[in-house]
Parts: sequence; C-alpha cells; structure tokens
Amino acid sequence: MKIICIGRNYREHAKELGHEVPVEPVFFCKPESALIVNNQPFFYPDFSHNVHYETELVLKISRIGKNIEERFAQRYYDEIGLGLDITARDIQNECIKKGLPWEKAKAFDGSAPVGKFLPLSRFPDLKNINFHCNLNGQTVQKGNSGEMINSFDSVVSFISKYFTLKIGDLIFTGTPAGVGPLKLEDKFEGYIEGEKLLELRVK
Ligand code: MG
Repeated sequence: MKIICIGRNYREHAKELGHEVPVEPVFFCKPESALIVNNQPFFYPDFSHNVHYETELVLKISRIGKNIEERFAQRYYDEIGLGLDITARDIQNECIKKGLPWEKAKAFDGSAPVGKFLPLSRFPDLKNINFHCNLNGQTVQKGNSGEMINSFDSVVSFISKYFTLKIGDLIFTGTPAGVGPLKLEDKFEGYIEGEKLLELRVK
C-alpha cells in the first residue's frame, strides 16, 4: 500500500506557513513504514528539533483505479478516518530552501499515524465534515472538509492521473491552520464529528 498526502489544501494553513496557495493540488508520498496504527506511540526522531502535527482527514481507497473521472471518484473510497501528517518542520524548511524533495521531513518512520476509520455511510455530506484535535486536552486544530481547496473527489481524480490507486491506499487530504510542535510526553487526540478516533503519545 502507499500513502499519498495533499499539501496546502486549506488556505489559512498555506498562509500560516507563508506558502502560495497552489493552482493544482500539490502531493507527496510516504512509505508504508511511516504508518502508526492501533494508537501505538510516536517516537520523537533524533534528527529534528521541531516536529509538527498536521491533523488531516484520510480517505481509504476501496477499489483499483487509474485516470478516475471526478464525477465517479466517490466509488473509489469507502472509509474516512483521521491521521497526522507529522512533519519535521526544520528539515522541511531546509529542503524548501535548497529546492530538495521533502521525504526526509515528511516520510520518516512513524510520520503517518492513523486512527479508526468510519464508513462513508456515516457522512451525509462529504463537504461538511468537522474534525478537530486536542493536544494535552486543549483544542489546537479545527477543520471542516468544506474548507478544502480541492475536494475529496477532485484529489482522488487528480492523483489517479499519475498513480494507479489500489485497495488500502491512504490519501491524506491536507491540514487546516493551527499546526504546531509536538513535545515528549504530549498526548494527542483526534476527533471526527466529536468522536475520538485517534490517540497518540509522544515518546
Ligand atoms: Mg499535511
């Protein structure tokens, strides 16, 4: 399986990092070794001093597809969950400055924790899904799928022009504003529509 992440999909987040809002979706990949499941802890990497959480809605691909038309895209995912696109911000800034790829900053071991997934049938309106996360009990990020620059369907369609999507692939759909640093012993909790789906301890 593969993990594909959309960058800069919420205007306010692009602004907070001083990035331009892209005309077409920006995406990058993480390997399977980035996954954390079952609320296992995240081990703070020794190569970074500024690791950030980015809370994102995650689509689970349920059908093999290539060159998917946007109007049929919904047939290709059947579950939505919550994940963290964990980012070594100091390394990412270095990569951006030098024009290098982001993998060192974005795709390292443990950089993609995901929680429990919910079936699509739980969501009457895919353009109105609320999610939020708490860090040590305080809400630090809040988002709604309606604020995305590129919708779930447009993202699935766009990615499938380049990559064949396979069953079990995960698509991280971008983070709203409010990203920030993780510290040792932090407790992170992620929610969709008030239901807790992810818990993560930083070790
Ligand atoms: Mg992200």
